Amino acid sequence: MIGTVALFIVAIALTVALMLYTKESTSYETVEPGISLDYPKSSDNSPVVSDREKNIIYEGCDMVNYLDLDSCASERKNASVEIVMIHFSSAVKEDKNNPYDIDLIRGMFESQKTSTHYFIDREGKVHCWLPEELAAINAGAGTFGVSKYLNNMNEYAISIELAAIGSCNDMSGILTKEDYNLLSAGVVGYTKAQHESLKLLLEDICGRYKIPYDRQHIIGHSDYNEKKKEPGELFDWSAVGLR
Ligand SMILES: [Zn+2]
Repeated sequence: MIGTVALFIVAIALTVALMLYTKESTSYETVEPGISLDYPKSSDNSPVVSDREKNIIYEGCDMVNYLDLDSCASERKNASVEIVMIHFSSAVKEDKNNPYDIDLIRGMFESQKTSTHYFIDREGKVHCWLPEELAAINAGAGTFGVSKYLNNMNEYAISIELAAIGSCNDMSGILTKEDYNLLSAGVVGYTKAQHESLKLLLEDICGRYKIPYDRQHIIGHSDYNEKKKEPGELFDWSAVGLR
């Protein structure tokens, strides 16, 4: 009898501990297929964007935590999603010992008033930072084939950033060669988990928008603006079924 009571108390204690732990660790909203999301509210408690699809049905996304939509996003106007653009970013300039601190990287986007729909961290977790219905502020000036894309790719693209540091050449505008050589090998390039998650996400996006899965539609920032070095020499296009 005492054994049963003791077991019961232990079970309760474990449950409470688990509840507290779960509460503590869900600063991001975990997304599962079909679960509706609470969209960010403005100060008068009305939705920032009211008439958008509220179900996230793709499987690739683990976390939804939007950037400040008022300053980091723009409207698509009537443009349709036709292009997926791949970038990389890190906080290596801000903190070379902790280049993948996600809060630091988020802060960079928000302070620069730029954005990306997705950010894939080193572990391959996909963070949704912007609803697809809005345009990211990320592509900047550039050109890619048809004239409507000229300096106007944000309206047509979904943006994916991967947490990465490129080759010494790719990083030449960001780090001096001396600083680059101080980096540990483990922080340079992409991880296998990132390539795997990216492939799932690309397949999902292309499937939903009927975008052909090829390099005319899945492009790097450098394909749009040759001054950009993203995704750079260390990115393996073949790992996501492209070349
Ligand atoms: Zn970029």
